[in-house]
Amino acid sequence: MSAVNLIRPLAPMTPRNLYSAEHEAFRDTARRFFETEMAPHQERFAEQQHIDRNLWNKAGELGLLCATMPEEFGGSGVDRLYSAILMEEQAFALDSASGFSLHSDIVANYILNFGTQEQKAYWLPKMATGEKVGAIAMTEPGTGSDLQAIRTTAVADGDDYIVNGSKIFITNGYLCDVAVVAVKTGNSDKGAANISLLIMDAHAEGFSKGRPLKKVGMHGQDTCELFFDNVRVPKANLLGMEGMGFIMLMKELAWERLMIGIMSQAAAEVVFAHTVQYTKDRKAFGKAIAAFQNTRFKLAEMRTKIDIGRVYIDRCMELQLEGNLTVEAAAASKYWHSDMVNDVVDECVQLHGGYGFMMEYPVARAYIDNRAHRIYGGTNEIMKELISRSL
Ligand SMILES: Cc1cc2nc3c(=O)[nH]c(=O)nc-3n(C[C@H](O)[C@H](O)[C@H](O)COP(=O)(O)OP(=O)(O)OC[C@H]3O[C@@H](n4cnc5c(N)ncnc54)[C@H](O)[C@@H]3O)c2cc1C
Repeated sequence: MSAVNLIRPLAPMTPRNLYSAEHEAFRDTARRFFETEMAPHQERFAEQQHIDRNLWNKAGELGLLCATMPEEFGGSGVDRLYSAILMEEQAFALDSASGFSLHSDIVANYILNFGTQEQKAYWLPKMATGEKVGAIAMTEPGTGSDLQAIRTTAVADGDDYIVNGSKIFITNGYLCDVAVVAVKTGNSDKGAANISLLIMDAHAEGFSKGRPLKKVGMHGQDTCELFFDNVRVPKANLLGMEGMGFIMLMKELAWERLMIGIMSQAAAEVVFAHTVQYTKDRKAFGKAIAAFQNTRFKLAEMRTKIDIGRVYIDRCMELQLEGNLTVEAAAASKYWHSDMVNDVVDECVQLHGGYGFMMEYPVARAYIDNRAHRIYGGTNEIMKELISRSL
């Protein structure tokens, strides 16, 4: 991958106006980090199935982790546009290996929003420096979409809970030091009232990790199973209140879904830019591929779809900053943008001909890397359920 010539996305036809000079300065730092530390090493990360552990510390030193956390907890206290920039720059550098956004914008958020002062003071500064890597563990071998059906139990025993069960498909799972884990603490008829969230120390006795799972794409991102065998977790590690897990998980869902929209949009933009360049360079029948009417129309159609997608994402981002982003609007972005990037990438592979099927081309990797966006964060079918319920 070191030979990949990184191409920036084209300026959109309707200019963006979200970012200030401070945001752009942060973008420069993020861009340099992803272009030098991540992009050239994707093949090695794919072989080892995770990034180098020290890159978490490097990202922390540069202020790229947990930037939106308050300063007293190690962050920079900045707005979520900084989070969006990080996701965009990761996508522009064709990095599918790092799990920084999940760590900073999901795991740390749970601790900030629902943690006690002690929990926040203990975990967040260490997550901001990269000393502790965070994961969120909800999905189990037997259930994903239907969270209420989880079977991992936490049974009270004095000042502790005893946790038994397992989780699957956990991003950052292999390198994680801390995981926010959904557990069952009750057996009531109302499934949602049985769910609680625990902050689990991944180095505790009885907490073990499987080998990173072999995935269709995102080969460099560590995704694995977690096993809990009579793990003793202090009750002080309960997040919020017992039985409130489901409600806590709902609180930030709009943002978590918009995050997938943001990543999908940025990926579509950069793959499109690579494809425009390729079709100008590649010749057939004595002229550039870009000169064929079919190519020009396909590019025009993609350009239009991508730019319209950009306007919706940026508007959702504004609503998010105002605190007005609805679950339905975010669900619409999650499903539409993740479908859109897959459609765009598929078309871009076609315009690359045989080279589009070769892993050394960014478009080929994008083809396998972006597929998961339609599955995680709530499947696209679940997103349509949510939107339809609001009608
Ligand atoms: C790369 C990757 C990373 C992941 N990272 C994490 C992580 O960090 N933490 C974590 O907890 N999980 C993670 N997941 C798991 C992911 O969130 C789940 O895979 C996802 O929620 C779907 O659950 P499932 O796999 O059990 O599928 P199922 O729930 O079994 O769904 C199978 C199919 O049935 C459909 N379906 C289910 N219910 C309905 C319904 N009511 N109406 C219509 N259709 C329905 C689904 O849409 C899907 O098409 C990750 C997954 C992947 C692939």
